[in-house]
Amino acid sequence: MSGGNHLDKSGEWPEPPAPVTLPREPRTGRSVSASVAHTGPATLTVRRPSPSGARTMNVSVVLFTSDLRLHDHPPLRAAGEDRQVVPLFVRDQGVAGAGFAAPNRLAFLADCLHDLDAGLRERGGRLVIRSGDVVDEVCKVAAETDADEVHMAADVSAYAQLREGRLRRALESVGRRLCVHDTVTTVVAPGAVTPAASDHFAVFTPYFRHWSGHPQRTPLAAPRRVGVPEGVGSEPLPSRADLSGLSPALCPGGEVAGRRLVTAWLRGGLAAYEDRRDDLAGDATSRLSPHLHFGTVSPVELVHRARRAGGPGAESFVRQLAWRDFHRQVLAARPEAALADYRTKGDLWRTEHAAREDIEAWQEGRTGYPVIDAAMRQLRHEGWMHNRGRLLTGSFLTKTLYVDWRVGARHFLDLLVDGDVANNQLNWQWMAGTGTDSRPNRVLNPVTQAKRYDPDGAYVRRWVPELAPLEGASVHEPWKLRGLDRAAIGDYPDPVVGLAEGLARFRQARALD
Ligand SMILES: Cc1cc2nc3c(=O)[nH]c(=O)nc-3n(C[C@H](O)[C@H](O)[C@H](O)COP(=O)(O)OP(=O)(O)OC[C@H]3O[C@@H](n4cnc5c(N)ncnc54)[C@H](O)[C@@H]3O)c2cc1C
Repeated sequence: MSGGNHLDKSGEWPEPPAPVTLPREPRTGRSVSASVAHTGPATLTVRRPSPSGARTMNVSVVLFTSDLRLHDHPPLRAAGEDRQVVPLFVRDQGVAGAGFAAPNRLAFLADCLHDLDAGLRERGGRLVIRSGDVVDEVCKVAAETDADEVHMAADVSAYAQLREGRLRRALESVGRRLCVHDTVTTVVAPGAVTPAASDHFAVFTPYFRHWSGHPQRTPLAAPRRVGVPEGVGSEPLPSRADLSGLSPALCPGGEVAGRRLVTAWLRGGLAAYEDRRDDLAGDATSRLSPHLHFGTVSPVELVHRARRAGGPGAESFVRQLAWRDFHRQVLAARPEAALADYRTKGDLWRTEHAAREDIEAWQEGRTGYPVIDAAMRQLRHEGWMHNRGRLLTGSFLTKTLYVDWRVGARHFLDLLVDGDVANNQLNWQWMAGTGTDSRPNRVLNPVTQAKRYDPDGAYVRRWVPELAPLEGASVHEPWKLRGLDRAAIGDYPDPVVGLAEGLARFRQARALD
């Protein structure tokens, strides 16, 4: 489904293409957002200036959610250059009320909104900020500006699906329409590829095969101009400076930072990704996850550019991006999987009260297992953790300590700048063996894994300074030290539980023996 609407050399919108008609998205009932489509509820044609050249300056609202960018933005594109556009972001009280407004993400979001506003101003527009209930605020803005349509990106969580339904009904009741665009936050829309007898894939490998063969649209350029109607009131932009409790080494947000990171990554890191992605100390992954979460980088454009770069690194990287879509299509079909086991194993997890000391040790990076502690301290310091660290700490909490995956998922969401309902909850379920893993009872041994993925111990020494005096791989088993060597690591704790003991508890709980 690649239209003829490629980026021109300036990276701006080229001339409007000829009208095309596109198929409707079969499962979701939403409009397919292809590169040239205006996605209305019934027909899909490109809006073009009238033959006389006269322009009707109707108004569209573009509601930004997890798509905080100007490049490759189908809703903005569909709203059209021949109309006035109200680029709107609502600081959604529902998100804050659900405890999802963690300081690290609010800070990244503030950067993104500043950047989006600056980009819009360069194009003659500006960002309108409101706060409150998203449906009420969108309806108010639409009424104030007499907008006849609202464009937004499709999203997958239960909350997002509910929001979309409420917004659609509220707008339609006053004669306005909601246009929801797929392939804004995913490469392939949830439900666009399915197995014969289900509404979603529960296994990644066949999903990836279908995903890879599915036509993908061509990325869109950023608009040259965005004309915003005069007099629309806006609240001030939120500021990172007003927030407290941030991770000290939190990365900056915004589309400009995201696009720079993409360019540097495609030139520098991508080629070696396949070989180095699990190297904990090498830190050789893209770190694009917060940009993908907030939509400052388009997944469609990223896949497009990675494929153009080519090679085994690019193939492996694109596969990881497909994992992101995979989890989204699971959550879209089973929104309850954000909180409930996807495939229950009937676990009777240790209660939070009984496991309180173990949970605190895990959260604080004081379990006595250096690689676990290093990863948990990286999370606190940066608001981000290496994927291998996430796998190890997830396995350790759910299997070695036999604590409910929801406890871990909640802690991650409190700190992760990329904290994302689909990716976080479903990766936690994968790790706990209640999700889509075909080997649900696998347990990752933190010592053998540390020796494989941090062979020199450099990752551990970086994040656990108490262990800095130890050389090489000896850093991974400090409990084996005696005498002066033991004294050199000060108050670094002994293991909270023996690995054999933890494994036996897990196997017994799952009736595996
Ligand atoms: C317990 C646990 C919790 C996680 N929580 C989150 C989360 O809240 N938000 C989040 O974005 N990712 C999460 N992940 C997935 C993964 O760890 C991160 O996406 C990745 O570490 C981000 O670093 P990167 O951008 O450098 O990744 P890269 O290796 O450069 O990968 C590129 C992109 O592919 C996607 N990706 C990579 N691995 C996965 C994966 N396993 N599942 C889904 N998408 C993936 C991400 O969007 C990532 O940015 C979690 C994984 C585990 C095991």
